[in-house]
Order: sequence, then C-alpha cells, then structure tokens
Amino acid sequence: MTRPQPATSSRARAARPPWAIAAEAARGLALALLFCLTWSAAQAETAKLRVATRIVPPMVVEKNGTLSGFSIELWNSIGQRLNRETEYLVLPDVSELLDAVGSGRADLAIAAISITSEREDKFDFSLPIMNSGLQILVRGTAVNVEANPLRELMQLFVSRTLLVWLGIALLLILVPAHLMFLVERTHHSGIIPTRKYFPGIFHAMFWAAGTLATQADQMPRHWMARIVAVLWMFTGVVFVAFYTAQLTASLTVQQIRGPINGPQDLVGKTVGTTRGSTATAYLNEVSAHMVEFEKVDDLYNALLKQQVDAVVFDAPALLYYTTHDGQSSARIVGEVFHREDYGIVFPTGSPLRKQVNEALLGLRERDIYQRIYEEWFGKR
Ligand code: GLU
Repeated sequence: MTRPQPATSSRARAARPPWAIAAEAARGLALALLFCLTWSAAQAETAKLRVATRIVPPMVVEKNGTLSGFSIELWNSIGQRLNRETEYLVLPDVSELLDAVGSGRADLAIAAISITSEREDKFDFSLPIMNSGLQILVRGTAVNVEANPLRELMQLFVSRTLLVWLGIALLLILVPAHLMFLVERTHHSGIIPTRKYFPGIFHAMFWAAGTLATQADQMPRHWMARIVAVLWMFTGVVFVAFYTAQLTASLTVQQIRGPINGPQDLVGKTVGTTRGSTATAYLNEVSAHMVEFEKVDDLYNALLKQQVDAVVFDAPALLYYTTHDGQSSARIVGEVFHREDYGIVFPTGSPLRKQVNEALLGLRERDIYQRIYEEWFGKR
C-alpha cells in the first residue's frame, strides 16, 4: 500500500530562498511600471489637444457658438494629419493665450499671434503660418467724409505752397515794374507820374501786380513799355493758370486724404488697438494716446463712435473688416508698416512643435494651405 504523498507545494514555496522572492517581486513591479508607462504614453498620444485661441476675424471667427476662420481651419487640418482631436479654449486676449501655454493650461495656442523676439525667448513658435504687420484704419470711405472745406481753405492760405507762390510772384513783379518805371516815367503822358524812385517804383509795382492777376487798369504809352506790358500780360495768364491748378489739386487731395494718412500722423492722436498686442508696444514708442480694447469688435466700434481717431491693428484683420462689415464706414490708410508673421505657440521644448511643422509643410505641399487661405482672403 502506498502511503499518500504529502502535499509538497506549500512546503517547497516556504523553502524558497528570500532572494528568489525578491527577484520575483522586482520583476512584477517592473512589469507594472512598464505597463503604466506604455499606457500613459498611449493616453498622451490619443488625448485631446488643448488649443487656446481668441476671436480675431478672419483668423478666428465665432458664429452661433461654432469656431471657424483661417487659423481654425488650418489647425483642424493639422490636427487631422496628426490624428489628434482638439479641444478649443477661447480666451479674451493675446496675453492670456500666452499665459495659458506658459502655465500648461493649453498645449498650444493659435489665433493671430505674431512671432516676436521677446515671445520667442519664452516660448517656441511653429514655422510662420501667415504674413502680417500693422496698418491704420480710419473712419470714412474713399472720399474723406469728415472733410471741413472751410478749415482746409484756411489751412491752404497759410500753407507753404501758397507762400512759395507769393514769393515767386513778388520776385516776378520786380522785373516789369523796373522796366516800366525806367521807360514810362520819361513819357509826358506815361502812367508813372513821378521821376522819383520810391513813389515811382511803388506805382510801377502796383501796376505789375494788377496785370499779373489779369486786372490791368492802365496801359503804358511808351512803345517799349507797351511791349513789356503785352509780354507781362501773357505771363500773368500763365501764372494764374498754374496757380489755379495748384490750388485745385491741393484742395482735391485734402478732400480725399484725411488728417491721418500714415504712421507719421499718429503723433498726439487717440489711437485704439487690442490689449497686449504688438501694436501696443509700437504705439508706446510713438507719442500717441493709446486706448486698449479686449474684443476686436469693440475696437472697430470705438472708431465708428469717434472714441478714437484711428485704429492700429493687424493688416489681415483690417483688410477683412474693410471688405466686410466696415465696407461703408472705414478705410485703411498707408502701407503695412510693421511687418510680422503669425505662428503657433508652444511651451518651450514641446515635442509637438516638430510634428506640427511637418504637418504644416505637408499642407503647403498639397495646396490645402492655399485653399484655406483663398477661402478667407481671396486669391493673391
Ligand atoms: N498680432 C497681434 C499680436 O500678436 C495681435 C493679436 C490679437 O490682438 O489677437 O500681438
């Protein structure tokens, strides 16, 4: 009869040396750690990307709670290529966008964010997504609706142009006046009543001035003086024609141009822009009185309500406004004067930047970028 074998397993386990148990535990721990790491990496790859943005038409437009616009459509295409979903975080101004990226509240930010050396120091930027720069917006359409003809006429009377013309006229007058004085004073019934230089020359100058303005009231008697008079009358006609042309041109230009026509005219003016934007830095440099607005719409409204004399803001945004809502109420003056590029902002060292740049280049190569651009800005 065989005796039943004692159960050996538990005894054997108890007999295992402690180093073997420790090794087994370490292996288990390592496996668990590996699992956790792989799982969290997979989670990070598939988690929604938190994208901070702000409303700046046409880069970011909000209609009935839905976001669209050039930057949003561009980002959606990039997100698709990266195979990542997006969760948008709409913030009030550009400083808050940068803060959100800096604090880790957002993985990146895209709107109308200009790449500057100061920002590049604290963040990482993608390749440029669009050219931009600053430009000036004023009230009124092509013809200056705020023109005040009386004020402009008064300004013209003390203008350099008028003073130059008067100077030329005075010099011109001296020549025929002297000829007239020399010849006519010797004639018995001449128009210069005295032989003395001073009262005589004044008389001759008065005649020359009147004739220049085509208002001659007396004609000389001496034949030589008559030749001078005829020549002088022709000079007068030409002079008046030139002067009238000059005056008309100046008045027309003033009617078309307003008091603000370029950055040089911003000094001392009340100028609006958006809070924390690159335009604030520019306006601080020139001596303009700056008013900052959070919403771009409020900025345009302030201009229309005459709370500011001009708006200095991003050229693409102003172009869109003047071809849409502001078509009949505002116009852009002068060239783009502070060139900047828009970019996507990441926290420094973000691994996303390389992926996004690759996706961006891919969109450009496949003309998808061009299609989105033309949809919002028209053909270049
Ligand atoms: N492009 C400007 C900037 O980056 C203005 C942005 C804005 O107001 O949204 O400062």
